[in-house]
Amino acid sequence: MPEIKEIIDEQKINNILKNTQNPPASKVLEILAKALKKKGLTLEEIGYLLHTHKPELIEKMFKTAAKIKEDIYGERLVFFAPLYISSYCVNDCEYCGFHKRNPASRKKLTLAEVKEQVKILEDMGHKRLLVEFGEHPLENPIDYVTEVIKIIYETKSNKGEIRRVNVNIAATTVENYQKLKEVGIGTYQLFQETYHQGIYKKMHNGPKADYQRQLFAHNNAFQAGLDDVGLGVLFGLYDYKFDVLGLVSHAQYLDKKFGVGPHTFSVPRLRPAETVKIDPTYQVSEEELLKIIAILRLSVPYTGMIISTRERPEVRTKAFEIGISQTSAASKTSPGGYSQKESLGQFNVFDPRNLDEVLKSILEQGLLPSFCTACYREGRTGQVFMDLAKPGNIHNLCRPNAILTFKEYLEDYASPKVKELGEKVINEYLKKIPNKVIKQKTKIRLKEIENGKRDLYF
Ligand code: SF4
Ligand code: SF4
Repeated sequence: MPEIKEIIDEQKINNILKNTQNPPASKVLEILAKALKKKGLTLEEIGYLLHTHKPELIEKMFKTAAKIKEDIYGERLVFFAPLYISSYCVNDCEYCGFHKRNPASRKKLTLAEVKEQVKILEDMGHKRLLVEFGEHPLENPIDYVTEVIKIIYETKSNKGEIRRVNVNIAATTVENYQKLKEVGIGTYQLFQETYHQGIYKKMHNGPKADYQRQLFAHNNAFQAGLDDVGLGVLFGLYDYKFDVLGLVSHAQYLDKKFGVGPHTFSVPRLRPAETVKIDPTYQVSEEELLKIIAILRLSVPYTGMIISTRERPEVRTKAFEIGISQTSAASKTSPGGYSQKESLGQFNVFDPRNLDEVLKSILEQGLLPSFCTACYREGRTGQVFMDLAKPGNIHNLCRPNAILTFKEYLEDYASPKVKELGEKVINEYLKKIPNKVIKQKTKIRLKEIENGKRDLYF
């Protein structure tokens, strides 16, 4: 196994944090100007941004991040829903409602229940899921995981179908990742939670307590041919400045080693959950979370960024503007939760709106909701995806695909208000497609969708 230091050099990170305090405004502005070139930032430059506190400079940071987001991803915001499959877990992570010490009874969905949950999500209009399993070799073995994924792809409800299943399972072997590859998963997500080894040890008990196993899991996934991987930090476990540098350091390592950086970053904050005691020492405020999102957007511009329903609607709205490219909506965090069957949940949700309500507010913000899954289905993953994302060309595909997939939503699921607003927003962005051929094809496909055709994409 490679050395931890290849990814996380704690001393180096601590030195950067020590040497980048109180940056003058000129330094911050110089870094923001460099960020606009969309080639990313060094850890040192990120250190200066993390130590920036003046409101007018933070505002400039947000504006620059918003510009980069706009240039690379355009106006689209991709939607997905989490689907919790099993709350059985052998680990005792301090921050999670599924931890072993919680005496609440556990639930694991049968394949029939998976079907039932998927149909509910399809009837809401979702096309992309993120499936989540606790770590439990007996209750949640890899063959159960792959069976669940196969069932999800096979389950259809009226015109609904799931076209991309992203997966969050515990760190595992190359052989097991190969099994995930065989059933056609989208992104494999695994969070380090915190990059600080001492705190990581304190927070974990069980197989996940192996920091190295967690850190090098993505290497195994790459080796198995899974080239879209997601990284993340649970902000609030340790000093967010350290963890932002750890996260970017990990991204830079993957990029250098495999020629492919992470497909996504996730930025959850520590939230209340059953039997979880929250230690406020490293609590991250909403303002700090937004700053983190902006800094990540500036630092690794080609990596998508995900925010969940752990945040209040107002925070999510601002986050969409300054860096987030994917979001969940109407989430339930317990197995069986979408059919109101109460079972143990992983954490509490702070955006209780249904999908239609979230879409309405996105449209009012001038953004274009998307249910697109085109890249993975066209084989645009890993290096191929990065070759489009890094120079900022991906939005040429994102916009028409968002228009087509959102049109499907409007035809099949939208409330009258969202339909009315949505048609207007689609027309606006249709006009803005720069390539005449693609614009014309999109117009034709919109008509085809009105006539009942589905699943059209570029
Ligand atoms: Fe289990 Fe994951 Fe929760 Fe830890 S975070 S207790 S591994 S489900
Ligand atoms: Fe994502 Fe690719 Fe669709 Fe853009 S075109 S939204 S990058 S799947």
